[in-house]
Order: sequence, then structure tokens, then C-alpha cells
Amino acid sequence: MARDAVPREDGPVGRFAPSPSGPLHFGSLVSALASYLDSRSQNGDWLVRIDDLDAPRTTQGSEDAILQTLEAHHLLWDGVPTRQSDNQPHYTTALQQLADKGLLFFCTCSRKSQKGLQAYPGTCRANVCSVPDLNAQLALAAGDHRSALRLQVPDCDQPFHDELQGPQTTQLMRDGGDYVVLRRDGLISYQLAVVIDDARTGVTRVVRGADLLPTTGRQHHLHTQLGYTAPSWLHLPIVLNERHSKLSKQARSLAITTAHPSTNLNMALQLLGQQPPRDAHLWSATELVGWAIDHWVPAQLPATPAFENFFGW
Ligand code: GLU
Ligand code: ZN
Repeated sequence: MARDAVPREDGPVGRFAPSPSGPLHFGSLVSALASYLDSRSQNGDWLVRIDDLDAPRTTQGSEDAILQTLEAHHLLWDGVPTRQSDNQPHYTTALQQLADKGLLFFCTCSRKSQKGLQAYPGTCRANVCSVPDLNAQLALAAGDHRSALRLQVPDCDQPFHDELQGPQTTQLMRDGGDYVVLRRDGLISYQLAVVIDDARTGVTRVVRGADLLPTTGRQHHLHTQLGYTAPSWLHLPIVLNERHSKLSKQARSLAITTAHPSTNLNMALQLLGQQPPRDAHLWSATELVGWAIDHWVPAQLPATPAFENFFGW
């Protein structure tokens, strides 16, 4: 459900981009809430995009469950949620743009040969992909094929600023190196898709978990390669479980229920360094989120990579 249309000035455009691989867990709620408050407190827009490109990981019913959970927590988006699976033509155009610049190459290296390497060693760089080759490659995507497409990265530092974690630098060649933009199974990679989607939907502000900080340098670089202005970035500490590993759908983290949204929101706000009223858990989600928009203090966000002491450990 979209919230009522309200005329807006030039606020930021934020977004939440869950993968439909399971129900929303508490870590995702924290990210969604922070991103929502960041935008709404500055009179900005907030979009929801379903990152459903990785079809093998998509689970039935997840998308509906995620959207219902957001609604129950009064995190209401503008417009309609979009899906990456509807954006294939835009990804193809971007691949063509990169191929035109001579930056794509076919890679036939096995996953095994890359094991333990910190960066792709450039083995297949000479197999430069031209635009006609690209079309052939895309046509093969539905069938039997053996090569992925990688993007050649420059041997230089990519600086970017993170509004919470401070100044960052990625050395693109050393930190992962040339990366896959079209997988050998024909799927567009997350790295390419996220940049195209954010740019096309006018996203100016990305607030998300710090688990994605290591690939942000790549994304920042790709925005500029494609002629876009990169959004501003804010990476939140990630929520760890009792075994000190990240809450994630893959790790079968507990889904949050919609039975007590205010309790979840109250806990998430505290984690985000905000100071909800003492009886906030008794408020409705609508009231609590309204309060949080009016009282959002980004300076109180904890600037650590992880919420170490959550749940008391
Ligand atoms: N879909 C990604 C995930 O669920 C997040 C994408 C992003 O925020 O850039 O991990
Ligand atoms: Zn290779």
C-alpha cells in the first residue's frame, strides 16, 4: 500500500530493497526503519524495490510477507513497489554501454580456480566483448553457455564518503578486481542491477546495512562509469545474533511477527540510538513512526560496524 500522496519539496529519495528469499527479519526492519526515517524526516520519498533477480533464491510468498510486514510497521512507500525482474531491458542497455567502452570481457574461469583469491587476477581480460558478441551472449543466456561477463576495473583508488562510517576508499583492482556483471547462468549480477535501478528511480540516498559497505566502492564507481551521480551512502551497523553472526534469511534468522509492531519498532529505535518515550511499546505503529519522524536524530546513530551488545551479549 502506498501512503497518501503528499506534495513534497526537494527531499532525498531513499529506498528499501529486500530480496524475497524469506520473511523480513529484525536486521532488515532496522535498515528499513532507518532508511524510512532518514527520508521522511527530510520530507523525502521512500521507495520499495523487490530484488528478485536471483530466482533460485526466491521463495514463494516472501514478497507479500515482506510488504505486509512493512505495512504493519507503518513503513509506507511511495508509488508501487518495483521488481528487478521487470527491468531486464535497462540492464541490457547498460551492458551495451559498457561493452561500447570496451570494458566487458568473457570469463571462463571456474569458481574453483578463484577460490582463496582476494581479487580476480585478470586471467581472461583479453577476451574483450564487443557489442555484437554481447547480443550473442545474451541470446545464449537461456541456453547452454560457459562464460560470464566481467567488468574491467581501473587500477586506482575509489574514494567515497559514508555519512556514518566516515571517509572510505576501495582499491578496485585489489578489493575483488574485475567483477561479474552477467553470470554464467545468464542472470544479471546484483552489482550491476542495484546501480541501474537506483539511478533510474532517482534514488539519491542509500541507507542500508554495513554488510554491503565492502562493495559500495564498486557501485560508486559504476554509477560514474555510466554517467550517473552516485547517491549519498549511509551504512548502519549490522545486527548480530547470539552466535555473533549476521541475522540473515540464509541463516534462518527469526522472522519478525506483525503481532506487536510497536514492540519491534521501539526496540529498533533504541538500537538506532533514538530515545522513544518510555511507554512507546503501547503506542500504535502509526503514532510511534510519526513520533520517530519528528524526533529523528541521525547524530545519535552508533557508528560501529555491528550492534555487538544487542540482546545483552
Ligand atoms: N537486495 C539486497 C539485500 O537484500 C540489498 C540491496 C541494497 O540495499 O543495495 O541484501
Ligand atoms: Zn576468467
